[in-house]
Amino acid sequence: MNWISETRHFVFDLDGTLILGNQILPYARETLDLIRSQGKSFTVVTNNSSRSIDNYFRFLTFLGFHIKPNEIHTSGKATAQYINQLKPEPSVYLLGTRALVEDFSAFGIACVNDIDAEPIDFVVLAFDQEITYKRIVEASILIRSGIPFIATHADINIPTERGLLPDCGSLISLFQTSTGIIPKVIGKPNIEMVEPILKQIGVKRNEMVIVGDRMYTDIEMGWRAGIKTIWVKTGDLNNNHLTSPGVTATSEIQTLEPLYHTLLNLS
Ligand SMILES: [Mg+2]
Repeated sequence: MNWISETRHFVFDLDGTLILGNQILPYARETLDLIRSQGKSFTVVTNNSSRSIDNYFRFLTFLGFHIKPNEIHTSGKATAQYINQLKPEPSVYLLGTRALVEDFSAFGIACVNDIDAEPIDFVVLAFDQEITYKRIVEASILIRSGIPFIATHADINIPTERGLLPDCGSLISLFQTSTGIIPKVIGKPNIEMVEPILKQIGVKRNEMVIVGDRMYTDIEMGWRAGIKTIWVKTGDLNNNHLTSPGVTATSEIQTLEPLYHTLLNLS
């Protein structure tokens, strides 16, 4: 991993890479602290769009991570940034949690609940843990009417203490089956998830690295975006068949410890 000396910005996946549920993985906090002390920077990313940036900021601070809100990036935030690029001050019918409505509002996006409101510029599907049949029906009517349909991410299931539970990707299947329309998807492995970070930090692709546990999201995003990757085998290793052909990680490690020591040797 000698190439790491060129890296100025680190993008860390959250679940399975820095934490596992409520458990902090070894060397996670130490590695982030070391990166900061070396004058480099990092972003923590997650495809989970059910929680807001503020939710994650409080949660990670509670776990003892030294992190700022602008160092956290969710597929919900990336979707808000993407929509704002297409249309300033857009109006959106959002299938999402109240936490995500707050993030969208902070980005100047109006979330409307009345399907007769004018205009509705986009229908956005997030990981909506508060969804009802009425909302599914209304979103379907809007999608069929031709309003652009965007999904925050396409993860099919979320691993929990109750096992695998339906995530946003399963809801995409529902709308796709009913309407025949496939949404534009923003979260990992799509490059729309990482491009705002490149812009925000102002680094070149060869000065960034993506560190993650999933081949088909974290590592594939780096491969698609032309950014180096480190595959850390602490999380979800069961679904590698979902990865596109030809995707490989720049480096592979079993835990974050070798990354920590490589960085330490640079100081
Ligand atoms: Mg992960």
